[in-house]
Amino acid sequence: MRPAVARIDLAALRHNYHLARERHGGRAFAVIKANAYGHGAVRCAEALGDVVDGFAVAIMEEALSLREAGVRKPILVLEGVFEAHELEEAARRDLWLVVHSDAQLDMLARVPPSASLTLWLKLNSGMNRAGFEPDRAGEVLAQVRESGHCAEIGWMTHLARADEPDCPSTADQIALFDRATRGLPGMRSIANSAGILGWSAARRDWARPGIMLYGADPMPGEAHGLRPVMQLRSRVMSVRELPPGTPVGYGARFVTARPTRVGLVAMGYADGYPRSAPDGTPVAVDGSLTQLIGRVSMDMLTVDLTELPNSGVGSEVELWGGHVSVNRVAEGAGTISYELLCNVKRVRFEYHDDASSF
Ligand SMILES: *Cc1c(COP(=O)(O)O)cnc(C)c1O
Repeated sequence: MRPAVARIDLAALRHNYHLARERHGGRAFAVIKANAYGHGAVRCAEALGDVVDGFAVAIMEEALSLREAGVRKPILVLEGVFEAHELEEAARRDLWLVVHSDAQLDMLARVPPSASLTLWLKLNSGMNRAGFEPDRAGEVLAQVRESGHCAEIGWMTHLARADEPDCPSTADQIALFDRATRGLPGMRSIANSAGILGWSAARRDWARPGIMLYGADPMPGEAHGLRPVMQLRSRVMSVRELPPGTPVGYGARFVTARPTRVGLVAMGYADGYPRSAPDGTPVAVDGSLTQLIGRVSMDMLTVDLTELPNSGVGSEVELWGGHVSVNRVAEGAGTISYELLCNVKRVRFEYHDDASSF
């Protein structure tokens, strides 16, 4: 069997959820959209089931597959519905919906209410992507009430630059949200992971931690105590000794400068390891750091084993996890941990849950 594996540490996931919830106070949606950022939504939901206040996903389909798998906690659908008929299904499956657009308000007005819904009204406080303009908060609330669909109300907004500790726009967003919702009834939610870690002023009734649950710190300069949940790993499948001046891989991007032992690893961009990773990207072989050399192929990549004489065929290679942070790989590849994690595919997923370790 090909040794490419994503090892998922469910105890670490719970640890990170507790950390997020403690730090923020109040309640916390575990954000498990996009298949729990590539970690497996159902397995993650089950692992969090006893401790979580609720889950958040992006779209209805994600929410419904969790309900089908037996998940009973509140599930918030962050993009809300795309079509009016989904309102009825949302009510039937007891989903909480974000309402962020006039199109969604129209749907609420058109469809006769069945069971009443918990609706989270999203305000645009500066992301300028989704959400109602803040000065419309009262009017939107009135329309939603008029529709007869709504049992409970929440107010939310999303921070655009919370991972930049010195950026004043986050405080502006929080202030704008507070002004717009002052005196209006309902729960409040502002903070994503970076908001939880960096902005105590963003704490409200509910937090919405995503990336931090998976142990990828959005502000990696500080020690927040998160534990990586995914270890992406494989093994060396062959070794070759090359003299100086020898090209390795497609396009001869890497050329040996010295006698070099090259390890061939069963992992490629079809597994989600980024093709854009440059020479020098860290990898750990049998627990020791070395580096990627040569272009990443679809199914394979090559690493430098010259300084690791005891490693060879069968050696374990960590692409990211406890030795190599996914943030570091993402930085080299010109992207963010989120994208790398939710792109992992084809590899075998192995779930571990050491309950005693948390
Ligand atoms: C994805 C998402 C989150 C979680 O963000 P992280 O940066 O992963 O913590 C929170 N809120 C909304 C609206 C989102 O779309």
